[in-house]
Amino acid sequence: MMWRDVFFELEDGLIDEANEGTVFCPICGCCSLKQIPKFIPSILTQAAMLERGEEWTPKQEDMGWVCNGGCTRTQRHA
Ligand SMILES: [Zn+2]
Repeated sequence: MMWRDVFFELEDGLIDEANEGTVFCPICGCCSLKQIPKFIPSILTQAAMLERGEEWTPKQEDMGWVCNGGCTRTQRHA
């Protein structure tokens, strides 16, 4: 399985307007999609940032949508 296969685009999702705009997985249709960072700096990088008084927060472009049930683009969850 390719790591990138777990991420969906928001446009791929099925948006349920009647349900507060919840975004459902286009593969299974039963689980919602959630946003997680596609990229997380290593512990060392984060420690170095903390030393400089910075805190890592994911940028919008670093966020990807994944199925709560664990679907990938190529495989439905069990
Ligand atoms: Zn799914």
